[in-house]
Amino acid sequence: MLKFLFWGLIFHQSLYAQEISFTWLGTTGSYITDGKTGLLFDPVVTRPSLTQVMFYRPISSDQKLVQEWIDKIQMKNVSAVFISHSHYDHAFDAAAFTKTLGATLYGTKTTYYIGKGGDVPEEKLKVIQAEEVYTVGAFKVTVLPSDHTPLIGSYQAFPGELKEPLRQPAPASAYVMGGAFGFYIEHAKGNIFFLPMSTRSEKLHFNERHADVVLQGIASRKSTKDLLKELSLPAKPKTIIPLHFDDFSYPLAEGFRALFSVDPDEFVSTTKKLYPELQVTVPKHGEKIILYR
Ligand SMILES: [Zn+2]
Repeated sequence: MLKFLFWGLIFHQSLYAQEISFTWLGTTGSYITDGKTGLLFDPVVTRPSLTQVMFYRPISSDQKLVQEWIDKIQMKNVSAVFISHSHYDHAFDAAAFTKTLGATLYGTKTTYYIGKGGDVPEEKLKVIQAEEVYTVGAFKVTVLPSDHTPLIGSYQAFPGELKEPLRQPAPASAYVMGGAFGFYIEHAKGNIFFLPMSTRSEKLHFNERHADVVLQGIASRKSTKDLLKELSLPAKPKTIIPLHFDDFSYPLAEGFRALFSVDPDEFVSTTKKLYPELQVTVPKHGEKIILYR
């Protein structure tokens, strides 16, 4: 009987190891794992206050907090950190996470200089281009072209590219955009679209790419209806998980506050009204959501 229970447990664990889960780190920070390999997208847990940002105060990654989050959500075997673009709310802790986890940092040339300034070894820095495909464990990650959503009208916050390594402490404004990407994540269990921006970029090849799950940035969207129609729905998802709706000028420890002018409740109610068959899962900081069993 004991032997039976033992093998039952082993069997259960091997099944468990194959589920794909997602954990939200706030903004578009995402941890995705199949139990064997972990991937990070835009991991940032150091959150400068609005005053620090507006008055160009030099700040540094909170190394202790980075380690706390690695432990808290039990990140393991993370060999890849992908950065969608280099604004501070997406890339400020890129070097800290990459170095602590011994991973490789994937991003634009600007992200490369953020890694370089954060002493990520040269062999762990990878400059990526749209349509390139990277195999990480059982995951296949395709880099997607993306436009950055304007903040207001056509105004882009912190534009530009880095031309040399960016060392901390540095003001948040030093983290210039440097181009933008989305990612298409394929796995035998199921596919995921990571779409941090709320504007449609051309050439996403939705006719060839499908995912049951879309991780969708909803900040600065013109309207929920257009965002769904133009960006999320062409991927033919069953589940949409909204991202980038929390106010990142408060520490994660202080709990959730909605980002100014980004109404997550409206996103959920409009989506449910327009597409009742679609599942909308609103994530919570640090809470694991099973995407595929
Ligand atoms: Zn941005």
